[in-house]
Amino acid sequence: SERTLVLVKPDGVARGLVGEVISRIERKGLKLVALELRKVTRELAEQHYAEHAERPFFGDLLEFITSGPVVAAVVEGPRAVAAFRQLAGGTDPVEKATPGTLRGDFGLETQYNLVHGSDSAESAKREIDLWFAGL
Ligand code: ATP
Repeated sequence: SERTLVLVKPDGVARGLVGEVISRIERKGLKLVALELRKVTRELAEQHYAEHAERPFFGDLLEFITSGPVVAAVVEGPRAVAAFRQLAGGTDPVEKATPGTLRGDFGLETQYNLVHGSDSAESAKREIDLWFAGL
């Protein structure tokens, strides 16, 4: 079994899609082991997205992710990292995510793509330590 960090980003929370995201995680057979509505400080956002620090969209990304509360969750199950990324769909909700995925069903723009899921077991460990120290 494996763990992954899931975020419902500020757009997903504002649009009332928290239940939809959690419902799909549960229906897939994954288990919630932590769940919290969180205000994101600039410091946490910078650490979470440190790998994107040199990207042109970094400033906008920090602005967006700190613009309102997010729901942070630790999700567990067999191949949890890949399983949640399958539920999320590709980064671009129109060009990459397919219908049936969260982004494919509910997203229009790459920045406002509703959810985050760790991209590897190593990232998951780093992100879970960052968001849920001591879990
Ligand atoms: P996440 O890390 O949020 O799960 P991801 O792994 O699908 O998303 P990354 O390439 O890691 O995508 O990008 C992180 C986030 O940065 C994206 O989810 C999106 O919100 C934002 N982003 C990525 N590319 C762009 C872009 N070209 N323009 C605006 N925002 C972008």
